Amino acid sequence: MENVIIVGTGCAGLTAAIYTARANLTPLVLEGRLPGGQLTTTTAVENFPGFPEGIDGPDLIQRMHDQAKKFGARFQFGIVEEFESGTPHRVKIDGSWVETKSLIIASGASPRYLGIEGEKALIGHGLTSCATCDGAFYRNVPVCVVGGGDSACEEATFLTRFASEVYLIHRRDSLRASKIMADRALANPKIKPVWDTAVTSYIIDSAGDVEGVRLKNLKDGTESALGLKCVFVAIGHEPNTGPFRATLETDENGYLIQTSGTRTNVDGVFAAGDVADHVYRQAITAAGQGCAAAIEAERWIAGSA
Ligand code: NAP
Repeated sequence: MENVIIVGTGCAGLTAAIYTARANLTPLVLEGRLPGGQLTTTTAVENFPGFPEGIDGPDLIQRMHDQAKKFGARFQFGIVEEFESGTPHRVKIDGSWVETKSLIIASGASPRYLGIEGEKALIGHGLTSCATCDGAFYRNVPVCVVGGGDSACEEATFLTRFASEVYLIHRRDSLRASKIMADRALANPKIKPVWDTAVTSYIIDSAGDVEGVRLKNLKDGTESALGLKCVFVAIGHEPNTGPFRATLETDENGYLIQTSGTRTNVDGVFAAGDVADHVYRQAITAAGQGCAAAIEAERWIAGSA
């Protein structure tokens, strides 16, 4: 039986791994569909304390991974399919049940898309949510970013390194992004904001790749089309709570509810990072929650042993 299984290897999961490993609990850490979490799809992280020059997201994650491994965390690639609470708890990983005294869920959140019919089939064919991953494929051609938050501004700014122009399509006439990121994006001559506008459909070429979008102005209802080679969607995230929703309490958007600290409604099960936090959603707050979950799991095991 495991002492603690940690689901996810983003900032929250890896910090929980460092702390539980240093507490001699030899945690089993599950790398899911996006090992390293969302920071692996970002460029410079400028706001993580201790890195005044900034640090690349993948580099920061690799350092956390190495640190957890050094103290004895065991990593395994695996997807959680089912969860049964009890004494012990049981987790089905790629078809096999594993028993554990405690569980830290740090499975994060995945990017949302627009919900346009047939959209998922276009991912990788001129539709993506990751500028860092795909931006370099679109050199000297027009692209667009959909959204008005920090992610949209960051992606748009990054894409100006490659694209001829970057349309920033937002459903309102002001950005939700922090002032520094909004100002940086709007000051960039390659970024062309398209305000009060929704993407209503994708225009596809004969090879099945995106060659444009149809747009609707939400204030006056006018419709138009824009030719471009890639759509980068940056409209927020969906929490990865599927296998846990039957047992653990979630809010109306599926985020796990922390009843006190990082505890969930089930004893010995803790939630950390973006899987539970839709308010702050920062690398540093996720790391902080990972630390708290590890300490709470350690105390719970000691008290329940
Ligand atoms: P977000 O702040 O939730 O912004 C989502 C944006 O998408 C909003 O502008 C929203 O419009 C728009 N949107 C939502 N649903 C839409 C739909 N169906 N169609 C069209 N537009 C839609 O998400 P985020 O930008 O991913 O940021 C998430 C968190 O990560 C934030 O806390 C942010 O500060 C943080 N973050 C930080 C950094 C950094 O500091 N380096 C970088 C990226 C993200 P409305 O404005 O109208 O609601």
